[in-house]
Amino acid sequence: MPELPEAEVVRCQLQEALAGVVIERLWIGREDIVRQGIETVSWYTRARILEVQRQGKSIAIMCERDAEQRVVIVELGMTGLLIFPREAVPSERHVHMVMRFARGPQLRYWNARRFGRVYLLDLYAWGAYCRRRFGPEPLTVTEKEFVALVKACRGRVKALLLHQQRIAGIGNIYANESLFHAGIHPHARGCRLSKRRIRMLFAALRNVLADAIRMGGSSIRNFVAPDGRPGQFQTRHQVYQKEGARCPKGCQTVIRCLAGERASFFCPTCQKR
Ligand SMILES: [Zn+2]
Repeated sequence: MPELPEAEVVRCQLQEALAGVVIERLWIGREDIVRQGIETVSWYTRARILEVQRQGKSIAIMCERDAEQRVVIVELGMTGLLIFPREAVPSERHVHMVMRFARGPQLRYWNARRFGRVYLLDLYAWGAYCRRRFGPEPLTVTEKEFVALVKACRGRVKALLLHQQRIAGIGNIYANESLFHAGIHPHARGCRLSKRRIRMLFAALRNVLADAIRMGGSSIRNFVAPDGRPGQFQTRHQVYQKEGARCPKGCQTVIRCLAGERASFFCPTCQKR
């Protein structure tokens, strides 16, 4: 499922393809996919795309028309894709939104499930949307802020990483991978970790996310980028879904999986509480 790196790969490709492009029509297939602003859908006709932003796992297409700005926000959810379909999409009936342009391929929002959502908002509402949902971005939060965040956490450090309002964009893949690289047990309590170990986690998190973005994200379920290409970072996963395999650090221990609200994969030898 898309997490920050996959959403960032989507953002980059959309920014490249769409900045400055004029929308000919915004078509919504099923209205219940739009959680807010369905009555403004016709505003987007002849609006120009200024840029494409990302907050956490949400994509925001910033548009302007007649000196007014509005945003199309797409949440990719579990299975959502934003694609330029040069070839056939997986199934036409799951295309819920189409953005047509004067030239170039149309952009389609495809989602087999209904967890994905679209919001059509003005800038004020977009600001409120972000404040309500997202903590700081892991790629821009400072080390000092991150240490303070973890030190203030009495619960499990992995649950903190997954909590979008505390720190945005991290899901189960990158939480598991970062904790492995930092040598921290997923059930370790944030407030009990030393500053040195929290700094190691900060570095691990940034490295893992940056590497994943560079490799086009992880294609675990159906994820592909807007150009139709799958990501490659799944070939670098060290512990995620590797239960029963030997620890890649060479300690000879077998990777274990702890069931919980989200499965935790870890090396019992290399990852300490
Ligand atoms: Zn190990």
